[in-house]
Formats: sequence, structure tokens, C-alpha cells
Amino acid sequence: MARRQSLMQESRDIERAIALIELGARQQVLESETGLSRERLLRLYKEVQGKSPSKGQLPFSTDWFLTWQPNVHASLFVNIYRFLDKTSVIEEIDAIIGAYRLYLEQTAVHQLPVVLSVTRAWRLIKFMDAGMLVTVKCGKCVGDFVADPLELNRDYVCGLCHMPSRAGATGAGKGRAGAKTTRLPAAGAGELPPMAAAA
Ligand SMILES: [Zn+2]
Repeated sequence: MARRQSLMQESRDIERAIALIELGARQQVLESETGLSRERLLRLYKEVQGKSPSKGQLPFSTDWFLTWQPNVHASLFVNIYRFLDKTSVIEEIDAIIGAYRLYLEQTAVHQLPVVLSVTRAWRLIKFMDAGMLVTVKCGKCVGDFVADPLELNRDYVCGLCHMPSRAGATGAGKGRAGAKTTRLPAAGAGELPPMAAAA
């Protein structure tokens, strides 16, 4: 019985790992979400992607999610994720995978760039689990937006209702902040390029 359970667990792990690799997840995500050894994951990665996973640290800062364009995409993802999480009994990682697929569908339908990588999406949910990021309702459109718990104020207006004057440029933002709790796009020191994990 135990043996059969572990076989089932293993096949579920492989299925998840393949789904995550196909979506472009980093090695660290695979290692923390499956019980598979690093060697097996590397082999799986090469088999699915035809190349080795890119190296480098995961993004550890919450700042990226608070810049204008990433915030809009992160908020879209969180809303999809919560919907899935509420309407189905699935484990967190499966909700992340499902929500990320729907996020990709939404960006394709609306012809938007894929700003949020699956690794960032995963990190975002972990930040929210840890209370390092929260969502707050926009006073104008009543949408839920990702925000810094320490910067909350009652008159929150989201980045869509109050666009910064140079909205859309993730890299070259300068000037004054638009919405009260929406930070200006920070030029990417130490960040992944937006499309890096989405290719
Ligand atoms: Zn709004």
C-alpha cells in the first residue's frame, strides 16, 4: 500500500514537474514543489525543453510586484488564482499551474505581453501566504489589487484607474508616482527580464 502510494505520488510529481517546466518554471520552483531529486528534475527539464534550465537566484523582493505594469498583471493572476482556489479542491501548486494557464489565455485574448513569468506567479502566492503582500480594493473600480501591507491606506486607487503618465514602460519610468500605493517602474537591477521565463 505504501509502495503504491509512493508510486502515485511520484507520478503526480512528474506530472506537475512537466507542467511547470512547460510553463517555463525555474529549477528552484520544481525542487520545492516536487519530491523529485535534482538530477531527475534536470533530466526531465532537458527532455521537455531540450536544454538545461537557466541558473540564477529566484527574485526575493516584493518590489517588482508593486511597479505599475507588473502590478496589473500580478493582480490579474491573483484574481484568477483565488477564483480557482475557491471553486475547486486542489492543492496550491495545482491552483498556481491552472491559474497561470488561464493568465496566459487572458494575455493572448487581449494581446497583452506576458509580463508575469510562472516563477514570479509562484513567488507571488508564496509572498501572499507569508503576508508580505496583500490585496486591497481599488476605491474606483472595486477590483482587488496586489499591494504592500505596510503601505495600505483607505483611499487606494489602482494603477488602471490612475495611470502614471508613462504607463506601459517597465524600464524607463521616471517622474512622479501615479496612484498612491503604486510605485514607479524600477529599472531592472537584479530582476529577471519580463519575458525570460515565458519563452
Ligand atoms: Zn481601479
